[in-house]
Amino acid sequence: MPIRFFNTLTRQIEDFSPREPGVVRLYTCGPTVYNFAHIGNFRAYVFEDLLQRHLEFRGYRVDRVMNLTDVDDKTIRGCRASGQALADFTAPYKQAFFADLDTLRIKRANHYPEATEAVHIERMISMISTLVEKGHAYRAEDGSVYFRIRSFPDYGHLAHFNLEDLRDGVRVRNDEYEKENVGDFALWKAWDEADGDVGWESPWGRGRPGWHIECSAMATGILGPELDIHCGGEDNIFPHHEAEIAQSECCTGKKFVRLWMHCRHLQVEGSKMAKSAGNFFTLRDLVDKGWSGREVRYALISVKYREPLNFTFEGLSAARSALQRLDEWTARLRDTAAGETASAPFAGLEAFGEALDDDLNISAALAAVFETIRETNRRMDSASLQPAEAVTLLKWLEGVNSVLALEPDAESIPAAVEDLLVRRAEARASKDWKLSDTLRDEILALGWMVKDTKDGQKLTTAPQSAAVTR
Ligand SMILES: [Zn+2]
Repeated sequence: MPIRFFNTLTRQIEDFSPREPGVVRLYTCGPTVYNFAHIGNFRAYVFEDLLQRHLEFRGYRVDRVMNLTDVDDKTIRGCRASGQALADFTAPYKQAFFADLDTLRIKRANHYPEATEAVHIERMISMISTLVEKGHAYRAEDGSVYFRIRSFPDYGHLAHFNLEDLRDGVRVRNDEYEKENVGDFALWKAWDEADGDVGWESPWGRGRPGWHIECSAMATGILGPELDIHCGGEDNIFPHHEAEIAQSECCTGKKFVRLWMHCRHLQVEGSKMAKSAGNFFTLRDLVDKGWSGREVRYALISVKYREPLNFTFEGLSAARSALQRLDEWTARLRDTAAGETASAPFAGLEAFGEALDDDLNISAALAAVFETIRETNRRMDSASLQPAEAVTLLKWLEGVNSVLALEPDAESIPAAVEDLLVRRAEARASKDWKLSDTLRDEILALGWMVKDTKDGQKLTTAPQSAAVTR
């Protein structure tokens, strides 16, 4: 069965085939580094990570670019307000972004171009020059260069709106605007006082690029004129991606992107995330509240990308429980497989990958994982799972985790828990069961659950309800 994805451009599920067999050129719009990314941003980045990992699971080589927007309306506003130079203002947010990617186990892209790098600024200027030469762009009386949307008949196809509705002669200088205000958009913004010392020389005088041309230049500059997949959040569809298509295709004369994929928005506890509503969270906020990156990843990944995600603390608790089940099952499998090296066939394991082939149907993929857990737990209860079957299942789990990245944290039993474990082992050796139980409760209070097996004490993280503090 081929891999199939929903294409925002055609509004249809299509069979996936990259231009060059075996290689996927993937562009994913990255963060604007004017503050810490919030969990709504990370929903998109985790979805893109799932996409990349599944394509690799299916044998594709993925060449992926994620840009860093380090000059635009927002970053300039931020650096001016803080009184810093632009690069000094954005540097800590760039660093924080990469740390957050690691926390969420998001695989690194092959390229992280920054808009302010000289090579990219040059390419933006050269693309704008080409657009002016071809009559798709013009310098207006305010000194800025605008894209003439009437010159591109396909304008509006991605967002599915009608060019007939346009009011002629309207121009927008802002990077972001509503559909009602659609008009010729800025490719190059002439310097004004609000820009402070941010600016580059160009054939049209000192100024700076618009946000949209940045992505067109970095995407085509690194991946070439024709991409296989371009992703983003649904709020990128208009005007950002609409503008990217117009600029790129008018410049190169080639079809810019074969497949457009967008993930739906995220709400928190049923409402739009907003600082004023008190439901605005960065990843750091959640980590400070005691949630692990692995748990947040599970909560973000477990709803299909084309469905709105209602992010709740109940959902995070459910993620914690699901991961604990997965860990307990893995530990049981290891015990069952102990010493066995041969593997034996086990039916039905392909359901996981097939679910993801179907437009990344993660709900069905996770259902397949937990159905396998249920079935094999029953068989381990009755000691009827063969060690060689357990070997097969463990190998399968490695494949599953190459896509989902839900393996336990390599870290790190805290030293306090280690001490308690040693004391408890001593207590049990001297048959002091009362002390053993007390120590078990102390370990639980630290967020860990200890079980006694024939191989000694086994430790797992405790469900949130059982732990007093984490
Ligand atoms: Zn972009």
